[in-house]
Amino acid sequence: MTPLSALQKYFGYSAFRHQQEAIIEHVLNKQDVMALMPTGGGKSLCYQLPAVLLNGLTIVISPLIALMKDQVYSLNVTGIPAAFLNSAQNPEEQRQLVEKLRNNQIKLLYLAPERLFGNENKLVPFLKTLNVVQIAIDEAHCISSWGHDFRPEYLMLAQLKVEFPDVPVIALTATADKLTQKDILEKLNLKNPAVFVSSFNRANINYKVVPKKNSFKQLIGFLNERKDESGIIYCLSRKSTEALAEDLKEEGFAAEAYHAGLNNEVKARNQEAFLRDDVKIMVATIAFGMGINKSNVRYVVHIDLPKNIEGYYQETGRAGRDGLASEALLLYSPGDAGKLQHFARIDGNEEQSRIMLNKLNDMVKYCQLQSCRRQYLMNYFDEAFPPNCGSCDVCLTEFKRFDGTLIAQKALSAVARLNERFGVNYVIDFLRGSKTEKIREEHKLLKTYGIGADISKTDWQRYIRELITTGYLQMGGQEYPILNLTPQSQAVLKGLQKVEFIESEVTEDAHINEPAP
Ligand code: ADP
Ligand code: ZN
Repeated sequence: MTPLSALQKYFGYSAFRHQQEAIIEHVLNKQDVMALMPTGGGKSLCYQLPAVLLNGLTIVISPLIALMKDQVYSLNVTGIPAAFLNSAQNPEEQRQLVEKLRNNQIKLLYLAPERLFGNENKLVPFLKTLNVVQIAIDEAHCISSWGHDFRPEYLMLAQLKVEFPDVPVIALTATADKLTQKDILEKLNLKNPAVFVSSFNRANINYKVVPKKNSFKQLIGFLNERKDESGIIYCLSRKSTEALAEDLKEEGFAAEAYHAGLNNEVKARNQEAFLRDDVKIMVATIAFGMGINKSNVRYVVHIDLPKNIEGYYQETGRAGRDGLASEALLLYSPGDAGKLQHFARIDGNEEQSRIMLNKLNDMVKYCQLQSCRRQYLMNYFDEAFPPNCGSCDVCLTEFKRFDGTLIAQKALSAVARLNERFGVNYVIDFLRGSKTEKIREEHKLLKTYGIGADISKTDWQRYIRELITTGYLQMGGQEYPILNLTPQSQAVLKGLQKVEFIESEVTEDAHINEPAP
């Protein structure tokens, strides 16, 4: 049977999506694969279909029992024999499962990583007696402490390639920036892996950021326009999820709270109620959502600033899995940025702190964008995207622009004069002719020193951000971030290229300190 006919026969779909077909072919050729696809993109099929075609057992590693249950259930419904091993099973159930595995009656076996490699475990020796033909690792970013969802038990998966050297491994995730991708490949020891990155654009999700003023009032306004729709509201703290859910109930909304501190019974009850649409609004911490496959979530609101773009994108990605238009709303306050900045510092781990701060900084930049948010998100995941998506709040707002060529020239020549060796704050202080001792004496003698004194620090930050977004400047530097010119800079410096800026509205700027060099 070809992959396509299996797709039609077992899954009832007429065509492959994204790079499913190429991914599946690589797995069938026994090659290791890492596949990055957006939430709802169809990752599961990439190992489920080979599992059906291959003659043997596919092991699926997954972080959450709820997720495994769902998948096993729907596979069995379609007639594909699948099972999962969990601690709740009694000895008789386990014995039956072992029997079925021995008789090749199971195509997919779902496991949590700690089940596979837990101490008193004899599972690996047993699995080695079976004909294992594929190992799939779902939510593979959980192996990276640089990702936003690190699970230490995932680190044990480094053993997989040692125990099953000849079995192809397919690692799947919906979130991984370049750093996390590299980390996944290294930690899993994948052999000469084929890496597939699908477009991460979720065209049906509209992104919007508004300044947070009276968040409850703002929220009620938003929810009143969506009374019958289902949505998730993310809060930073457990306490505020419960308080907000109560307040919303008082206003007549069907809302419940969800966070990791609730007991399992309450969590399961609230989650089920949400899935069944008895509860319309889930007020949750980021503990809620992974593996929850609810297709008609119409909006995701972040009432507090997320810690990084990866998390934010994953969370907003839970809206609109059914492909219908959906909303991602973020309430932004610079105060939140300050709070998170405090949390991002991890004592005694400079490198980790620096990475976290940079990620937070990118999140703040997103909130302050005056260019297409979708483009920024796509660029963040190293994907090119045109500058106008037509459906984020920035693209939908008419901005007044002005000729900023002179301003751009000042900034670029300052960077050039400083030999492309300094960060944003230094360049701004230099442009503004700051008397601070931070500015080196020899720099104070340069003609460019102080040529931008008439522009406020906040405006300079905005202009430089804009110059980076438009590609006339770029961030470089190994040890700490510095501003560099780009191949496009010369045209501006020579007056061959005009640059436009958006006229300033009065915005409060969060000032995130650059991490210390
Ligand atoms: P992910 O794990 O990437 O978030 P899923 O594997 O849960 O996404 O797939 C999302 C939805 O898309 C599921 O309902 C799935 O059945 C469906 N799907 C997957 N592949 C296809 C396809 N080729 N054609 C149509 N629907 C598909
Ligand atoms: Zn846009």
